[in-house]
Amino acid sequence: MPEQTTVAFLGLGHMGGPMAVNLVRAGYTVAGFDVVPAALEAAQTHGVPTVASPLDAIAGADVVLTMFPSGQHVLDAYRGADGQPGLLAEAKPGTMFLDCSTINVDEAREASALAIAAGHRAVDAPVSGGVVGAEAGTLTFMVGGETEDFEAVRPLLEVMGKRVVHCGGHGGGQAAKICNNLILGVSMIAVSEAFVLGEKLGLTHQALFDVASNASGQCWALTTNCPVPGPVPTSPANRDYQPGFAGALMAKDLRLALNALESTGVAARLGPLASEIYDTFAAEGGAGRDFSGIITDIRDKSQH
Ligand code: NAD
Repeated sequence: MPEQTTVAFLGLGHMGGPMAVNLVRAGYTVAGFDVVPAALEAAQTHGVPTVASPLDAIAGADVVLTMFPSGQHVLDAYRGADGQPGLLAEAKPGTMFLDCSTINVDEAREASALAIAAGHRAVDAPVSGGVVGAEAGTLTFMVGGETEDFEAVRPLLEVMGKRVVHCGGHGGGQAAKICNNLILGVSMIAVSEAFVLGEKLGLTHQALFDVASNASGQCWALTTNCPVPGPVPTSPANRDYQPGFAGALMAKDLRLALNALESTGVAARLGPLASEIYDTFAAEGGAGRDFSGIITDIRDKSQH
């Protein structure tokens, strides 16, 4: 999709706002809209042209990019809800519906099928990299859809991200995202339990880190996002668990993973448990803290 592409950018929140700014800076014609006036104003302040309604945004758009909180938001917007007309019925034929929200795999497949049935094209492209990556244009996009549609959206995604990976057919982007975050959620709990056990057994954090980071316990949760302060000075543990990746988002992504585990019948045990652990963490004050703050829960709930 060349720079003369017109993009309706819907959902100008923490992620969508800076992503839209990067598209504008790269020369794309953007019409931004958000249901929350403050988000609309913030985007406008940062140079994103905004409009007064979703229909104004999609008028003449080649791409409808959504960055919403949940799959229900995406499906409601596509189909229409609460007396609002649906985007699919109003967009010009052959419009590219590009959803970058993190949603259930089944919802992503349903959204794509609806778009195609309405005469459009569809791709799911959830991201990792957080607000910092959205601002810097260094997100990773995990993309599900037909190869020619992937190739069509690639240049646009490359403006907002540094890695764009085609993960397969519709829903493939969402599938890759939740599988990755299932690994991440479980491994952070394992690393945290190991550090608390090490404390009980008299190991220093540095000694355990020096061994595990060079041995078979090595993983991103340990070597990049280390849940104790000291061994990795840039990890959130060194700034009282300011995110980083917030506990609420990890809890959300693990709920999506849990839904997929259940619908596919996988005999998983750690995934459902990790989902429960992060739900509790988020409900008990961890929602706005980095997910590695789970170690403080484990320590606080330990005996002695
Ligand atoms: P956010 O809540 O800040 O932004 C979502 C925006 O969508 C809100 O401003 C909301 O008003 C708007 N919105 C909802 N329905 C709308 C509609 N019908 N029309 C127009 N606007 C509408 O959330 P966020 O942090 O920007 O995250 C967006 C998505 O990205 C989520 O699915 C999240 O899971 C995913 N994600 C977030 C992060 C992160 O670090 N924040 C990282 C990776 C992925």
